[in-house]
Amino acid sequence: MADDLVAVCDFCIQPIPDGEGMVEVDIAAAERALKRWRARYGTDPGAVFRTTPWARPVAWATRHTDCGTSPRFAFTIAVHRLRAWTDLLRWGVHLADKAFTPATDWHDLVERALDPRQAAVSGILPTRPRPLAGGPIGDPRLRGPADEE
Ligand SMILES: [Zn+2]
Repeated sequence: MADDLVAVCDFCIQPIPDGEGMVEVDIAAAERALKRWRARYGTDPGAVFRTTPWARPVAWATRHTDCGTSPRFAFTIAVHRLRAWTDLLRWGVHLADKAFTPATDWHDLVERALDPRQAAVSGILPTRPRPLAGGPIGDPRLRGPADEE
């Protein structure tokens, strides 16, 4: 079965084959960003890191092993574990339990994969282009009658 997703290196803008790269984030930087944010908004139950104007989420990097360097404290996902839409969903569930996740741009990485109109040239992207009008995700042959227009 063909892969749903392709990993494209943020550094060289080339696809990353299995075993040759990863998606990763600097956990220590995210925890520092979260600590700074909590110092200001920690007691406000309505505050959300992602929607705070001055908060700068720590970016996930998609890269070949030889492009760029790993942070000292990295959360790393090998690209072969991010080839299907269900992989992306599973990692999202896994990351929801991590304290550092809200201070990263994981949501943006997922949104760029779901909606390539956001001019993404690297990161995790769909293997098959979709119409710019949007529509269901995945293989059109698997769509049900409700998806027909
Ligand atoms: Zn590269």
